[in-house]
Amino acid sequence: MKKTIPILILTIPLILFIVLFPIFSADQNASNVSTNGNGTTAENTTNNESQPEKVAFIIPHPDDETIGAGGTIQRIMENGSTLHFELMTSGNAVTSELLPVYNYFNIEIPSNISTEDQKKLIRQDSFKRVMAIYGCSDYNMQGYDDGTLNADIVFTTMENLYLKEGYTVFYTVTGDGNVDHLACYQGMKKMKEKYPNLKYRQFPVYYYHYYRQNPMSLTKNYTDLNVNNYASKKKNAFQIYYAIHTILPTYYPYSDGTFCTSPERIYYMN
Ligand SMILES: [Zn+2]
Repeated sequence: MKKTIPILILTIPLILFIVLFPIFSADQNASNVSTNGNGTTAENTTNNESQPEKVAFIIPHPDDETIGAGGTIQRIMENGSTLHFELMTSGNAVTSELLPVYNYFNIEIPSNISTEDQKKLIRQDSFKRVMAIYGCSDYNMQGYDDGTLNADIVFTTMENLYLKEGYTVFYTVTGDGNVDHLACYQGMKKMKEKYPNLKYRQFPVYYYHYYRQNPMSLTKNYTDLNVNNYASKKKNAFQIYYAIHTILPTYYPYSDGTFCTSPERIYYMN
């Protein structure tokens, strides 16, 4: 009996180690894929984007880029990548659910135009101001009406950027309850099917809202990027949209800073 005690002392930890090792290592693998809060396990995205690349953002409405990727945009710019934005719609919809837009920056608006057209001018102006905050001068505003985007429009935009301009990394929103967001998701899907070797990324716009739509993404791989370092410009950009009243009341309060300090979720392929 006395001899068996030292043997047990040696063998029990060994057996425990053998039994538990697969569990520990499985957890380790899972966390590499899906966690990231503090940037320590962000290697997938970081490595892919540490070299300067030509990166194009396809943005359905003025504000989606800031809400979903305001920190990511700055992060990409830091490594010297070329950044281009395609703003697809003007965000001109006027409905009972949306706040009346406010001409906070006193831009010139012809008095005889429709409420929708006024909104278009104010929102496109707000987008320009936000681009200036980020230091992006390379953008194009396509000016589609709210709710009229479709997969073909988005696909053609992406394909032209690739074939004519040489962009090889594409960002857009995930699908959700909004038709224009869905069109971006579908357009990227078509693009990925035709050009599978390019890099495709998606970000959910209302990810942090507790009753958000489940994001519809092209992949299950994602990284939660800590964007604390970029909170200042993101906050300023958000404040532009806040000032003109183009944020849905249901998504208030954006101004409390929550969106600036929260991580940004980026779904990535390759
Ligand atoms: Zn949107």
